Amino acid sequence: MTSQPEVAIITGAASGIGRALAVSYAQRGVVSIIGTFPGDPHDPEQTLDAVKHAGGMGIIHEVDVRSTESVDAFAERALAEYGRLDYAIANAGILRNAPLNELSDEKWDDMLNVDLTGVLRTLRAGSQRMNDGGALVAVSSIAGGVYGWEEHAHYAAAKAGVLGLVRSVAVELGPRRIRANAVIPGLIETPQSLDPVNSLGPEGLERAGKDIPWGRVGRPEEVASVISFLTSEAAVYITGQALVVDGGLTVK
Ligand code: NAD
Repeated sequence: MTSQPEVAIITGAASGIGRALAVSYAQRGVVSIIGTFPGDPHDPEQTLDAVKHAGGMGIIHEVDVRSTESVDAFAERALAEYGRLDYAIANAGILRNAPLNELSDEKWDDMLNVDLTGVLRTLRAGSQRMNDGGALVAVSSIAGGVYGWEEHAHYAAAKAGVLGLVRSVAVELGPRRIRANAVIPGLIETPQSLDPVNSLGPEGLERAGKDIPWGRVGRPEEVASVISFLTSEAAVYITGQALVVDGGLTVK
């Protein structure tokens, strides 16, 4: 009798870290429900092709983390298609530039709705449908963990909130043997950081890379492999933690 493969939901998996994670899961035999945001310019089919190329399985599902209904349906899809859910990865996020004087209540609310409440919705929907023994991972940022970033107070606050959320969820779900952890990426080359308006852009990234002890900015796969580790048997006794993945940027 062949055993059923494990199943993960990943928000924001049409690009960047989410796409790399789906590929990493494919290499490990974990099936991905590839969350794609309606209107996202990145093609989720590219993620699915990469998953298949790596010998894995997956399906694409549209999800907007600003809606509880949408996120619940996303997690439900794992059960409908594969009859199980093992891992929920709250990866989707936005980054917007706003000096404090221009940081309106509306911009603040929009940011927190995606980058913090969106994480809550994903971890909640996932844990409600997950097998005991599963795992949750949320993607934070050095801006929310250990590093101040001018003109990004709302992003930093949301990403800091993610860390508190994960710690409490870890304690609450311990009795079900569901682990909850976060990753804290540094500068990673993805569509988000390549945006010259809201982030550093290509030239800024290259300049910044020279100041990182590792000598360059990170690659999406280098964060994905850590998320995969945190959702593996090798990390079975790690919960409520946040791992910094930044090439030494914040210890310099
Ligand atoms: P990315 O822009 O490639 O990925 C973000 C994804 O989130 C996109 O696919 C986008 O469509 C999706 N998304 C945006 N709004 C959404 C919504 N309302 N509902 C569902 N999906 C939505 O960039 P990335 O760098 O791979 O980002 C992944 C995560 O990593 C984000 O949470 C980001 O804040 C975090 N992060 C990135 C860096 C970096 O340097 N790239 C550093 C620290 C943290």
